Formats: sequence, structure tokens, C-alpha cells
Amino acid sequence: MIRITQQRDKCIGCNACVEAAKYRWRISRKDGKCTLVGAVQKKGFTIF
Ligand code: SF4
Repeated sequence: MIRITQQRDKCIGCNACVEAAKYRWRISRKDGKCTLVGAVQKKGFTIF
């Protein structure tokens, strides 16, 4: 099983994750940071 984690507060909006997996990542129009689609927040990490 593969687990994807993200520290969203450290995202710089470089778009690399979106280019790698467009179905999984989205750049927010509000703050320019990336969101991991379908993930949950836990202790500062986004986990899928
Ligand atoms: S846009 Fe994606 S690859 Fe770039 S810093 Fe944010 S989460 Fe990481």
C-alpha cells in the first residue's frame, strides 16, 4: 500500500504534484497551495 502525505503549510505552489497526478492534486485558487483530493487532515499532515 502506498501512503501519500503532505505538509500543506509548507507547500510553495510549484505545481509538480499536479503535473505528476492531475487526478489527485489541485491548486487552490484561494491561497495558491496544493490540496490532496480525498485526503484527511491529521496533526498538521494531509494523509491519503
Ligand atoms: S505544489 Fe505540490 S509538489 Fe509543489 S510544494 Fe506544493 S505539494 Fe509540493
